[in-house]
Amino acid sequence: MKLIENWFSERYSDNLQLSFRVKDQLLSLKTDFQRIDVFDTYDFGKLLSIDGTVQLTEKDEFVYHEMISRVPFNMMKKKPESVLIIGGGDGGAAGEFLKLGVKKIVNVEIDGQVVEVSRKFFPELYSSFSNPSVTLLIDDGIKFMKQNKGTFDLIVVDSTDPVGPAEGLFNADFYKNVKGALTADGIMVTQSGSPFYQPKGLTMATSGMKSVFKNIKVYTAFIPTYPSGFWSFTLASDAEIKNYSHDLSSGKYFNPDVLEGSFKLPEFVKSLI
Ligand code: SAM
Repeated sequence: MKLIENWFSERYSDNLQLSFRVKDQLLSLKTDFQRIDVFDTYDFGKLLSIDGTVQLTEKDEFVYHEMISRVPFNMMKKKPESVLIIGGGDGGAAGEFLKLGVKKIVNVEIDGQVVEVSRKFFPELYSSFSNPSVTLLIDDGIKFMKQNKGTFDLIVVDSTDPVGPAEGLFNADFYKNVKGALTADGIMVTQSGSPFYQPKGLTMATSGMKSVFKNIKVYTAFIPTYPSGFWSFTLASDAEIKNYSHDLSSGKYFNPDVLEGSFKLPEFVKSLI
């Protein structure tokens, strides 16, 4: 009998894609906002895809989630006590802030189905939503931000790429509202895409943030299942952004050397920001 091989591919360009051989497709559904798929892959365990783009896999989610939480946590003068996460419906980012001892975490995810999918297929990530320090709201982060002034020390944009519901999370108007929702000297971080395949996304985020905040800093991480494996994040604050060493304990990716090194940028990335 001839075995049929199944593959999930994420298209990076008309001429290039990354393919994962899959044991099974566990779910495919269309919500009011996007299409969600879950695959059981051979090399990366379960994989969550939204609109055909990889959001996380069991094997490498730790890189993204540690780097979107532990870096901003340390780069803000005051040790952050209240954190707002926009997106992040899988629960991974909230889980990292719990590990850092944050007692007030509000997570605003637009699509309740992402949370349900995480509950079913990624229970370890989802479990952070059962912690009393985490408040989960199903709402549009853009709208939420306008209604909550001066409330959060740290705001994390853990969103999909700047198309569809996340489009409005990458422009100056949104960043103005983020600034309004931050406490004095607060800091924000956004995932800002692959500098190699999505240079416009990085330029859009950094130029928008520069027009609103006094200081910005870009850092990068190695995330094997994201386009090119080389990913950027951008911090913005009116206060000085530097290492205040609030908690440098090592994770699986993060450690004090990684924190310092992640801010050393190649020339082609510097030229984009
Ligand atoms: N780690 C991921 C990545 O960069 O590929 C991000 C993961 S998380 C699943 C992204 C979430 O952002 C999605 O669940 C999506 O529904 C949510 N999202 C997109 N636009 C949003 C908005 N305007 N308000 C709140 N959440 C939003």
